[in-house]
Amino acid sequence: MKGLKFLLILVVILSGLLAACSSKPEPAHVQDGLDILVAESFLADIVQNVAGSQARVETLVPAGSDPHAFQATPQDVARIENADLFVINGGGLEEWLAPLMGDGFNTPVVTASEGIVPVVRTQANSEVHRHEEGDPHFWLDPTYVVMYVQNIQAALTKADPAGEAAYAANASEYIQQLDDLDQWIMEQKAQIPAANRILVTNHESLGYYADRYGFTIAGAVIPSVSSSAATSAADLSALVNTIEKYGIKAIFIETGANSNLATQIARETGIVVVDDIYTHSLTGPDGNAPTYLEMMKYNTSRIVETLK
Ligand SMILES: [Zn+2]
Repeated sequence: MKGLKFLLILVVILSGLLAACSSKPEPAHVQDGLDILVAESFLADIVQNVAGSQARVETLVPAGSDPHAFQATPQDVARIENADLFVINGGGLEEWLAPLMGDGFNTPVVTASEGIVPVVRTQANSEVHRHEEGDPHFWLDPTYVVMYVQNIQAALTKADPAGEAAYAANASEYIQQLDDLDQWIMEQKAQIPAANRILVTNHESLGYYADRYGFTIAGAVIPSVSSSAATSAADLSALVNTIEKYGIKAIFIETGANSNLATQIARETGIVVVDDIYTHSLTGPDGNAPTYLEMMKYNTSRIVETLK
């Protein structure tokens, strides 16, 4: 009898455990929209367009800061842990994330660039040998952002199946706007004489933009796809030679970047420094780049009016 009672208790405990394992309850807050944390501000805007107004979308890396060089605080890690989804660009942009992943957090990580094969760029200042690096700046070509949107739509649908139709409709509407943006940039860049379609930037961020719209990247102040890489005197003198050799008109510097070296090069070569290109962060609502679409339009306008 005693043995039977023990067995009965054991069965009750086991079935309780099984129930706990098999039926993971949906988090209650999915009912009133997902809480989504996104690494960068431009990506948060893209996510919000797909997720719709029901979702609460927040940005981890503060607007105006450089996502390559970000340092996550314990508060940032807590924000990741408290979100339903954490969306990153991927491709190596979030250099700070790998050590955090080692500690382990349970929030699903959505990589917006999943499935895109990075172009490996040899350094543009070709006189100086450097290692090759995969370029993470896919979002500066809107046709890649279409793939971001599809990945985000799939992740949102998985996290909140009830929202499937809404996410599909939002994604399709935003993809139409991305197509229009791509067409608009094509038309704008046609104003620049072919010989002037040469870009020099602070670090090598505009590679995919250049590939898509027919520009050549002649060099960069920091000859790397990461802004946190170093630059040498030899790199800078190679860049000055390139600028003089090709009669380059301007250096385009991302906001948030240190423009001291670019200013020094401009003084030496007499070219223009355009220091309000938004590549890694949006502005506030009253700035030049409050959304991803406006960021791309503003950058294109600055490039066209400088080089045409
Ligand atoms: Zn970058």
